[in-house]
Amino acid sequence: MIPQLTEKEALSPVVLAFVDALTSRGFTGDVETHYGGRIIAATDNSIYQVTPQAVLFPRSQADVQCILQLATHEEFADVTFTARGGGTGTNGQSLTEGVVVDLSRHMNRIVEVNEAEGWAWVEPGVVLDQLNAHLKPHGVFFAPELAPSNRATIGGMVSTDASGKGSRIYGKTSNHILALDVVFSDGLAWQSVPLDASALHELKSGEALVNQIYQGVDRIITSKHELITQRFPKLSRFLTGYNLAHVYTEDGRFNLNALIAGSEGTLAVVTGIKVKLTPLPTIKRLIVAKYVSFDDSLRAATILVQANPAAIETVDDTIVTLARQDVVWDRVGKFFSQPGDDRVKSINLIEFAGTDADLVNAGTQALCDQLDALLGHEHEAVGYQLATTDADIAALWELRAKGVGLLGNAKGNRRPIPFVEDTVVPPEHLAAFIQEFRQVLDGYSLEYGMFGHVDVGCLHVRPALDLRDEADETLIRVISDQVKDLVLKYGGVIWGEHGKGLRGEYMPEFFGQELYDDLRRIKGLFDPTNKLNPGKLVTPIDHPAFVKKLDEVPLRGHRDRQIPEAVREAFPGSMHCNGNGACFNVDLDAVMCPSYKFTRDRRHSPKGRAGMMREWLRQLSHTGYDLQAEDESRGRLPIPESTDSDFSLEVYEAMDGCLSCKACTSMCPIKVDIPDLKSKFLNRLYTRYRRPLKDTLIAFGERTHHRLLAAPFLYNAGVKLPFVKPLMREWVGLVDMPKLSSPTYTALLDKAGIQVLQQIEPSSLQHRDLSHTIFILPDAITAFYEAGTFVECVTFFKKIGFEPIVTPFIENGKGQHVKGFLHDFQRTARHAAQQLAKLASMGRPIIGIDPAITLTYREEYRPYLDRQDVEVWLPQEWLVNVLPHLAASLTQLTSPAIAFMGHCGEKTSIQASGRQWQAVFQAFGLQLEIVQAGCCGMAGAFGHETAHYDESKGIYEQSWKFKLADSDRAIVATGASCRSQVQRFEGGAIAHPLQFLSRLLG
Ligand SMILES: Cc1cc2nc3c(=O)[nH]c(=O)nc-3n(C[C@H](O)[C@H](O)[C@H](O)COP(=O)(O)OP(=O)(O)OC[C@H]3O[C@@H](n4cnc5c(N)ncnc54)[C@H](O)[C@@H]3O)c2cc1C
Ligand code: SF4
Ligand code: SF4
Repeated sequence: MIPQLTEKEALSPVVLAFVDALTSRGFTGDVETHYGGRIIAATDNSIYQVTPQAVLFPRSQADVQCILQLATHEEFADVTFTARGGGTGTNGQSLTEGVVVDLSRHMNRIVEVNEAEGWAWVEPGVVLDQLNAHLKPHGVFFAPELAPSNRATIGGMVSTDASGKGSRIYGKTSNHILALDVVFSDGLAWQSVPLDASALHELKSGEALVNQIYQGVDRIITSKHELITQRFPKLSRFLTGYNLAHVYTEDGRFNLNALIAGSEGTLAVVTGIKVKLTPLPTIKRLIVAKYVSFDDSLRAATILVQANPAAIETVDDTIVTLARQDVVWDRVGKFFSQPGDDRVKSINLIEFAGTDADLVNAGTQALCDQLDALLGHEHEAVGYQLATTDADIAALWELRAKGVGLLGNAKGNRRPIPFVEDTVVPPEHLAAFIQEFRQVLDGYSLEYGMFGHVDVGCLHVRPALDLRDEADETLIRVISDQVKDLVLKYGGVIWGEHGKGLRGEYMPEFFGQELYDDLRRIKGLFDPTNKLNPGKLVTPIDHPAFVKKLDEVPLRGHRDRQIPEAVREAFPGSMHCNGNGACFNVDLDAVMCPSYKFTRDRRHSPKGRAGMMREWLRQLSHTGYDLQAEDESRGRLPIPESTDSDFSLEVYEAMDGCLSCKACTSMCPIKVDIPDLKSKFLNRLYTRYRRPLKDTLIAFGERTHHRLLAAPFLYNAGVKLPFVKPLMREWVGLVDMPKLSSPTYTALLDKAGIQVLQQIEPSSLQHRDLSHTIFILPDAITAFYEAGTFVECVTFFKKIGFEPIVTPFIENGKGQHVKGFLHDFQRTARHAAQQLAKLASMGRPIIGIDPAITLTYREEYRPYLDRQDVEVWLPQEWLVNVLPHLAASLTQLTSPAIAFMGHCGEKTSIQASGRQWQAVFQAFGLQLEIVQAGCCGMAGAFGHETAHYDESKGIYEQSWKFKLADSDRAIVATGASCRSQVQRFEGGAIAHPLQFLSRLLG
């Protein structure tokens, strides 16, 4: 039995008193002091892990003021604050031992869009993609770009002065800020707009801090004008903390926003942003230029940039190779399919964009001409291809944006680590700089992948290290210092794109002591008591604290190394999550991750769950509990209401909210498999605590219901009894008990003249001509509860000339896996595998109708079977191969428009699935429109659990409901769960695609 886990980093009594006082002073946001929430805020995408004291989630600017005003009280002098948005920083920017102020959960509203005047006001927690999706119908966008655009917040972008692809023409975030609402360190709210000279000199706010800031900054900038001009690097990618060179605008106005942007939360908390809107390009062209070496692509880029494209980005072969295993390859593979492409080691992605088609086309043509000239020369391009559709261009940029994540998916203990990953040098020095950079890394025999914004001299490199290994840990300092010397030599900066974070110690070498002291004076003007994100960038000049050195801060590796290696290997998903935050995707029509999207609580995300599991493994390892040993204890303790007594209960809360939809298993760049972690966790949790009855009912539901098929009407009558529903809902924890189909599927099949095998016995079929036979596996959810749908699907095969034979029911065990009955699951998997092997010995295809159940054979079964001999097709996978051979005999059908809504697991595990279904319908002369939708919210039994009903409904209403309401088309859906969810909330049935075709075939 697992022991109780009570290890916690203690909370300071002062912080506890602070959060208590906060609530009584009218703070309306959430306050999190429990360990799980603190653990999740302890990491970003960096090498560090620092547990905060508490996490506050304000709902308004007034809440932020409330926090900072209270903190001015003497007794809270030691409480410090670090703002946080998406938490995608790569250098510990938002990590703190103090209190995190997370503005992403509630302060994420788009307040106003003024199209005529070209601006929008947004709250800081708005995510870039969220804003741009909102603006798209207006024909405008917020132009600064960054790779994690689906989870990085505008507040975070402002505070790191983010920029990315397209920065040559669009610049950085600071170029697009019209005004900022901020709260200063003393709790004062202020709106900062550029001021002309007279307004600046007349500024008498009546607030001491404001006067001190404006006058002090003006004094420093005016008196140090020459030094600033001389020392500040002339690079288009630069700078966080603090951009003194741009406080005075070209037209002579004083713009405090130039300092606040890029201040990494050290000067003020940003609570509102008035952003400038830019017309959306109406035409785009993307050229994929291919080379045999990374150096060739870099050198070519310096020539190609003369054609003035919007962006040139280079991706090396490590990333291209990793992308071949990723879901994105399905959409970009065609750009690597020309003769000679097997030699490709690096690519340039070159984009032209604008509103004038002639200009864009002319630019594209000029660049293609340049590439033609390069072909066959010394640094030859192997070839190039042109992408012209929005979908292809988006897919190619997704390949680039996934670069960092894909690197993290490398095999082995050494994983790519961000610490020198965003150097910038003048573009003309980039190739020479990279050569020396490579020598540094090669000197330590390190693996690394490279990509970057070559048009602006920015290079992304993540050397692979294992920070659980102390020898590798020492390389962080050694390599950082060497790379810093190298960028200084080439006139660049070491922190060129992702902000400084915990790399502030290098600032004096880049600015010189005099300007460095001025930067400290600036900090002192805004935040004299060093309360805002202390330890980052600089400290106030007359304050005793120093910035933290990059190797003074606890690393995640320090904790991870406390987990025995064998345990780490048994829980790889948990260990390899690198915190890049791709699972915080806020797009409601994307499958990743429904529980996070609904709750906006990061504990309920793959990252949150993986992080809590790591801590759980660490704590368990400390107790001496052996996770490698079998443990068949049956827990007897009731699960307590409060999670305080045992950290396992906090992990349980996070895991219990997971739908096991499996989006993370393929959409996370590292393929962190939370359903696998969840089932392993539950398996151990219930060695201590008593399993709820509902789990047992779900895990063994298919077995019980199979038996009940002998008399379904009895079960259905029982379910209808008035006391049963409330009893099940309140006492057992299950809602909407599904009714068994009556007549049963076997009776219906019998009527349709389709054979049902009583047992799998190859000898009984050996004298039959099986050349047209296909075996169909009945799954519990379709066959037992939707017998009509199941039989119509089977009949489809008969109607197109095959002989479908339905096999005996074989338990699949999906519910056992979901609920962590792993011993039972292994037995079930072995038995099913034996049966399927017997079937397979007859040499005919085996097809399963429901995606979730069918994919279990090839995914969940894999680690639990000794042999890999289970091959069960989904209908469309098999049909796309055989239908072309039947083309002449297929009836051509007609139908009003048909729209297809795929099952999450199917869409993410088999990327081609939508296209396969389209091909199947096409074979009958029908067009099938693929609808982009998120999760339906049902996910097997999840939506049937009382505790999850509201969440299940909420998830459904975020995406599916709109898609159905929007539709005057016939909807077809492959997932039995999805169909039952639509039935539950809309009252009408939608068809399985095969059922739909079967009906049309008559
Ligand atoms: C895979 C990957 C790729 C990346 N690619 C790019 C890229 O192409 N271009 C780029 O510029 N960056 C990139 N980054 C770095 C990072 O995404 C950016 O710095 C981003 O702007 C951070 O936004 P966030 O919302 O995640 O902020 P966080 O990480 O939460 O915070 C970043 C900093 O901003 C401060 N902050 C956040 N919100 C506020 C606020 N409201 N008020 C005051 N301070 C605040 C925090 O204290 C912290 O110092 C990448 C990161 C990852 C993981
Ligand atoms: S779970 Fe995957 S997507 Fe989410 S932070 Fe971890 S590695 Fe990134
Ligand atoms: S399985 Fe689905 S709900 Fe669970 S963590 Fe993964 S994406 Fe989120």
